[in-house]
Amino acid sequence: MEERAVKPWLDRYPPEIPAAITYSGTNLVDSFLNAAKLYRDKKAVHFLGKSITFQDVSEQAFKLASYLQEIGLKRGDRVAIMLPNCPQAVISFYGVMLAGGVAVQTNPLYMERELEYQMNDSGATFIISIDMLYPRISKVKALTKIEHVIMTRIQDYLPLVKKVLYPYVQKKQSSVQVSLEHSGTTHLFSEIMKRTNETFTKYEIDAENDLAIIQYTGGTTGFPKGVMLTHKNLVSNATMCSHWLYRCKNGEEKVLGILPFFHVYGLTTVLILAILQGYEMILMPRFDAKSVLKTIHKQRPTLFPGAPTIYIALLNHLDLQKYDLSSIDACISGSAPLPVEVQEQFEKVTGGKLVEGYGLTESSPVTHANFVWEERVSGSIGLPWPDTDAKIFSMETGEEAGVKEIGELAVKGPQIMKGYWNQPAETEAVLRDGWLLTGDVGYMDERGYFYIVDRKKDMIIAGGYNIYPREVEEILYEHPKIKEAVVAGVPDPYRGETVKAYVVLKDGEVCTEDELNKYSRQYLAAYKVPRIYEFREELPKTAVGKILRRSLVDEERQKQQER
Ligand code: AMP
Repeated sequence: MEERAVKPWLDRYPPEIPAAITYSGTNLVDSFLNAAKLYRDKKAVHFLGKSITFQDVSEQAFKLASYLQEIGLKRGDRVAIMLPNCPQAVISFYGVMLAGGVAVQTNPLYMERELEYQMNDSGATFIISIDMLYPRISKVKALTKIEHVIMTRIQDYLPLVKKVLYPYVQKKQSSVQVSLEHSGTTHLFSEIMKRTNETFTKYEIDAENDLAIIQYTGGTTGFPKGVMLTHKNLVSNATMCSHWLYRCKNGEEKVLGILPFFHVYGLTTVLILAILQGYEMILMPRFDAKSVLKTIHKQRPTLFPGAPTIYIALLNHLDLQKYDLSSIDACISGSAPLPVEVQEQFEKVTGGKLVEGYGLTESSPVTHANFVWEERVSGSIGLPWPDTDAKIFSMETGEEAGVKEIGELAVKGPQIMKGYWNQPAETEAVLRDGWLLTGDVGYMDERGYFYIVDRKKDMIIAGGYNIYPREVEEILYEHPKIKEAVVAGVPDPYRGETVKAYVVLKDGEVCTEDELNKYSRQYLAAYKVPRIYEFREELPKTAVGKILRRSLVDEERQKQQER
């Protein structure tokens, strides 16, 4: 798979955006140390009414790094970070980087089974989380290689947070008072922060090869895999982003951090970008339309990366008119198609720009976006970013497709992952000569604008969350009354797609939707639980017995069109 000889999109670039990039610092440790010096007394993180400076963040990250090494962290050890967006999440991420660890990004909504799988697959030996999640973590600990548990406590945050973080724990668990001691293999974040020792061994980092994070995703096949992203992958993607936002001034912007750091989209476009450029991060631990509107009104962020469902929820809030959103300058929307009406309405309300971008976990994540201040094309994911190459391959012939011909999108650039953790066959299936096969189906027009029309993979994106049918199906298949189950994403006016389960019961069994719902909720994070169940006598299958998920989705689309 050759480099493209002509990159038509480069003709459209304004002079301010370079075609290629020279990287100032190619690893996350140096970029962090640099920011700590350059922006020392500037505000780095704002969280629920309180701010800390770059100096505070660096001091605390140093303390954590020195402590992690003292309790045995060695270069390359995996450290799970299972936190909502909060100052401790920023400190933990850079503390782990400074200590030479690899961060395993973990969703705080994970239930025991999901957590156990991820911990075992990544081989994490440390986990940093919050006391509300301790009951869940302590159950899983015995089944994994986790040796050390580092806990932030709810009282270390402001009182408001208890209410805000509530959705991250099950109702029953939140009423259990968790009282933790700083001893043995349980460590309290607040005690670590009282230390005076900030020394740690600084390793030489090979930015190109050393892993910074392992980020779990279903990729094209739906089977959960750890995406290995190196220091260079992440720094280069954040650097590209800073060039794309060329009017933004170093040290002067405020970026709204709603996208969670446990997904690489939030990590790169908020946390890493802000540290690289000296921006202040305004953090929010979870999305709630009213709090976001209030926060924009009061804190005046200028940048706001998000997903269509986030912007839609804000525009539909009844009190929208009461808030002043005029501080917003630039927003890049990713993860799903951005409806034109949403783009136009949002720009009218804020006076700022909202443009569609595209990416995936395997590419750290951004590869394409529309220009923020120049021409953009509605319905297009935009143009490849600096240093990024993109091609469409015909799904029939495997050859490069012509202009406006539909095929699979492949991308190449310094942001493309090293591979899947311990999955050489899966890696080989998607990475060829540095090109990543995205599993997304689309085309390029003669000017170099790209369009996504479908997904080769089966992943469902509901309300901005990715759901892999296979994981949900596995749970359903374990139900004693279920014979066969298949899960698909069906169109939904609000969530984009929603999870629907088609179920065939074992002979003679009777079962209700409510029963399956209660059962699924025990094992799956709420966003993965099917919202619709349909009981059938049989499911459509291929000649070799593979269930045809796609034909069920088509059937559903057809039904919706006829309504
Ligand atoms: P993730 O790995 O969680 O970042 O999900 C990546 C997937 O989200 C891509 O492979 C696409 O299927 C989808 N995606 C991201 N951005 C867009 C977009 N602008 N339009 C359509 N699909 C998108």
